[in-house]
Amino acid sequence: MLSKFISLFIVLVLLSCQPFIKRKPQSLSNQLPGPNWQKVEMIVTAYCHCTSCCGWVLNDKKQAVYSYGKNKGKRKKVAYTSSRVYVQHGTIAADISMHAYGTKMYIPGYGLGVVEDIGGKIKGKHIDIYFTNHQNALEWGRKTLSVQILKPSS
Ligand SMILES: [Zn+2]
Repeated sequence: MLSKFISLFIVLVLLSCQPFIKRKPQSLSNQLPGPNWQKVEMIVTAYCHCTSCCGWVLNDKKQAVYSYGKNKGKRKKVAYTSSRVYVQHGTIAADISMHAYGTKMYIPGYGLGVVEDIGGKIKGKHIDIYFTNHQNALEWGRKTLSVQILKPSS
């Protein structure tokens, strides 16, 4: 009887953790742009997971909540992307109506990344690349670059 409860408990814990995946770092280093990659001129800006880059604040209970937009005041999982994976160097926010989740991009001066996130201002030929700290994101600024793109294989 007790073991039934324990296994039910484990199942519940697993279910509650499921929506957010703290994934293993992807190994992208062995993939370099090849003939199937398409070159596109894009505006490349940068972000990190901080309050100003990702639009969140701590509420009076010290919980992270959205600071503006339609989810204002609602709890936010800091450092998780819209595709619910943990951010890392190589995480790209894009207009997913043009570049689906999973699209790989090679950005000169940054390296390889994967589209895993979206952003309110990220539309059309504009992508936002993730840096682990705000200073590096600031230093990147805004660049127009020839980005190489590989659509996910279907
Ligand atoms: Zn930041």
